[in-house]
Amino acid sequence: MSAHQITFRILRFKPGRIDPPRYQDFAVSLAPDMTVLDGLEQIRLDQDSSLMYRRCCHHASCGTCACTVNGTAALACTTRIADLEGEVVTLEPLDNHACIGDLVVDMRSFFREMDARWSNVLPCKDATPDRTPQGVDQLMRLENCIECGCCVAVCPVTSSGVAFMGPAVLAAVSNEMRNRPAHRKILAQIAAQPNGVAMCRRHLACSRVCPSKVYPARHIADLQRAGRLPNQSGMAPPTSKKKSLD
Ligand code: SF4
Repeated sequence: MSAHQITFRILRFKPGRIDPPRYQDFAVSLAPDMTVLDGLEQIRLDQDSSLMYRRCCHHASCGTCACTVNGTAALACTTRIADLEGEVVTLEPLDNHACIGDLVVDMRSFFREMDARWSNVLPCKDATPDRTPQGVDQLMRLENCIECGCCVAVCPVTSSGVAFMGPAVLAAVSNEMRNRPAHRKILAQIAAQPNGVAMCRRHLACSRVCPSKVYPARHIADLQRAGRLPNQSGMAPPTSKKKSLD
């Protein structure tokens, strides 16, 4: 496939240097089957080595290259040029995260929220060393979630400024309820906190953007259903497996 000229319009921000943020255009030459990340690499190598973005695995496993592509959160490494409309690609940092510089955001609040929910749920004695190396169980807490932050970036509840636990955390809580019945009670208490499932307004934006098909909104719906069951102390594990976006 032959390459053609595309404009990358990137929201630049460098504290103290490019401040307030402003858009900067870069002309890149990309074939339709190349990705947004390919374009960013081209810019950094050939035009502006100061451009800030994160990347690591290049195949949707690490979640580090998440940014806002033409107005919605996505992974730069799997967003193909052929799937974007027009000759201008607008790139901005993820919403609902503090920007450190250009497309790099501060993920500390995301990980802090995750860790706060898990430190008392999965003690080390719960690990199963006969099947997995010590500690690996804790890393498997989210199943398919790559902790990219896309769902949090597009969540209108989080955007409104309230202290919402967020779709990624709640999806993980739901997942744990299914996988660890012994922890069901404490997980149910976590989900039922004032900043938990009750705050979700079913916008479904999280499920639409999730690059790993975690479908956080489906997990939140499962938690809400489980919370309405009479047996609150031992909430039934979520069972929904439907393939719709919720
Ligand atoms: Fe990313 Fe999906 Fe995990 Fe949210 S649930 S952090 S969108 S992989």
